[in-house]
Amino acid sequence: MTLPNGVWGKIARVDVSDETTEVIEPDEEVYQKFYGGESLGMYFLFEEGIVDPDIEPFDPENMVQVMLGPTNGLAAAGRSCTVTKSPYNFAAVSRGGGQTPRELKWAGWDGVQVVGQADDPVYISIVNDEVEVRDASDIAGKNSRAKEMWFKRNVFGPHEKKDDKTLGEAHMTDEWADLRPLDDDFTLGEKRNAKAWSIGVGGENQVWYAALGCDGNSWHGRHGEGAVLGSKNVMGIAVRGTKGVKYHDKQAFLQWTRESQEAQRASTGWRFYGTTNSAGNALDVGCWPMRNWQWVYLNDPDAVRPLDGMYLTKATSVKGKACSGCAQQCYYTSRQQSDKYTESPGEIDDYTLDGAIGIMPCWEMQGCSGGVHGYFFPQGPKDADYFEGLDPSDTYPGNRKDMLEAAMKMQYTDELENKYGLDTIEGGNNIALVQELWNKDLITTEDLDGIEPYWGDVDAVQQLLEKIAHKDGELGEALAKGTWETAKYFARKKGELGEDQDPQFDAEEIWPEEPHVPSDDEIMYYAMACKRYGMPAHGVRSERCRNALAYLVQYRPHVHTGGNDSIGANHYISFVGSAVFCLFSPGPDAELINAATGWGHDDEDTMLVGERAWNLGRLFNIHTQEIENPREEWDAAHMMPQRWFDEPLTTGPPEVHGKTAHRGNQQVTEEGSYENLWADLEDYWDDRGWTTDKGIPTAAKLEELDIDDLTEDIAAQYR
Ligand code: SF4
Repeated sequence: MTLPNGVWGKIARVDVSDETTEVIEPDEEVYQKFYGGESLGMYFLFEEGIVDPDIEPFDPENMVQVMLGPTNGLAAAGRSCTVTKSPYNFAAVSRGGGQTPRELKWAGWDGVQVVGQADDPVYISIVNDEVEVRDASDIAGKNSRAKEMWFKRNVFGPHEKKDDKTLGEAHMTDEWADLRPLDDDFTLGEKRNAKAWSIGVGGENQVWYAALGCDGNSWHGRHGEGAVLGSKNVMGIAVRGTKGVKYHDKQAFLQWTRESQEAQRASTGWRFYGTTNSAGNALDVGCWPMRNWQWVYLNDPDAVRPLDGMYLTKATSVKGKACSGCAQQCYYTSRQQSDKYTESPGEIDDYTLDGAIGIMPCWEMQGCSGGVHGYFFPQGPKDADYFEGLDPSDTYPGNRKDMLEAAMKMQYTDELENKYGLDTIEGGNNIALVQELWNKDLITTEDLDGIEPYWGDVDAVQQLLEKIAHKDGELGEALAKGTWETAKYFARKKGELGEDQDPQFDAEEIWPEEPHVPSDDEIMYYAMACKRYGMPAHGVRSERCRNALAYLVQYRPHVHTGGNDSIGANHYISFVGSAVFCLFSPGPDAELINAATGWGHDDEDTMLVGERAWNLGRLFNIHTQEIENPREEWDAAHMMPQRWFDEPLTTGPPEVHGKTAHRGNQQVTEEGSYENLWADLEDYWDDRGWTTDKGIPTAAKLEELDIDDLTEDIAAQYR
């Protein structure tokens, strides 16, 4: 027995229905097989029967898990990983950062699992061993940051008191006071002791893509964790931990961490510009979504400037920030104020948030909160003709102030999504879909309750976001279910899809012939979704970005970092998510795991942890959706946006110009050609030890991974 080195050996399972907490103490063998985070969370989805198709995502039985791993505590990247059944009814796994994961570890827990459903709004307070379900009716209906601050004002460690000396404004440091924005709702509150995960109004209203925020600036943003927590009437989890952490070989762990931090400090691009350092690169390789993915390249360098990390940090950066222990500090607080408006007093009350401080969007948010809405050209008059014929090949028609304005619109949109606690990627794709449908006259202003979403119009984007977050009317209800369901809603409204009809296609038509798909005068054509979920800003329509197969093989619609069809890379990424560490930082290995736990694992063991997550995830998605024929229902060409394959790129370098996405395991191909995606998929499944006709893990594979007890009965039903 090596516990409690690296892991404490206990997880708090909080049932908010009866306000009880059960201490779950997995065997050490379970920890050694799954570590924590992603893999251990998937284990519990099977162990507790959440995989059962009869359990709906918003049922009280569903479990939201915020999980840690053996590296948490003093590691050079303090992260957490959420695992639940998504409102989209697939496995939801999302990584986030901030300071709260470390706080939970220091409180003596390897994770929190929330089940049940409270009658009234509550929050969970964790102070070391004490776990309480408390009334949160005072904070219900507030945005995620206001909730976070409220939690911090109400949760204290054993020796902390809520008096002026401890928490009074007079005792705030100057730096803290500087960071305190004008609007209380946006206060960041870094210096409070307790840390918190919190949801926004979107989570309370169960918007399918509502996120779970951490410390106001890091998000478990993919797949609707915030919505599931909201369905339980839980506003957040506040944590104060004072126990510290114990490692098997503390010196070895700290030495590994020091070396990692040195590498982080040397990573100047990340350190000075955060993920925006990759913005230029993303544009070079065609990973930039513009106007609902009509384009993925900008050709004029001037148009790119507002996206560039150097430009943004100079224009808006206030302070670099980091997850606990990380010297890379890849994200920034930024002041959201355009000098255009500073020079034009009286107009500052528009989308500049009065100079309030928020988080600078990462490069992917720049695409999904900016490019997809068409912010990067001057908006000009609200006249569709103004945009007629304008494309990214044109010389940038604006000036420096227009660039800054574009950046401000992007930041403002991102900040609104943060405020409401919505995933910026799915949210951005969703609204961009509505913009394109309206701009192409496939839907009307009347369909949008009077909103006119011209490209680049941040006010219209805000109006739509508010409808979504509050589920305002039939339109808000429809849009709150994400990109795919939004397209279905409008397709039904326009009579393109029957009331009970799903846009499924006959397998005989799909393989090996061209799939039958909607044409570009049909609404479903414009849903830029992979497996029914809005795609990240890693477009497939480029020569160097991910290919179609890479998106198709993800066990959930896609991991945050986009598609990847390398089995080794798949497993490594899931190992990192189980360790629980950060993918942006120099990665963990068996040496770090052993220093933390004393388990004596090698790199093969660490990869097996990732492989278990992949096999569990695949079976989870098949079983919970009761997919009898994955080729038709899940791993099919129509699960990807048809635009990838139909529309040749109109911009970009010669090697991609005029070409479409390849339909197999390649990069771009000539327009109209068709490769056999099925053959590539079959090879991939075979390499994984899955059946080649359905992609179900074989009995031998499950036995090899030592998860057959957990999964074989389910797998046998589908082979
Ligand atoms: S690199 Fe960025 S996301 Fe990763 S741990 Fe460091 S600050 Fe957090």
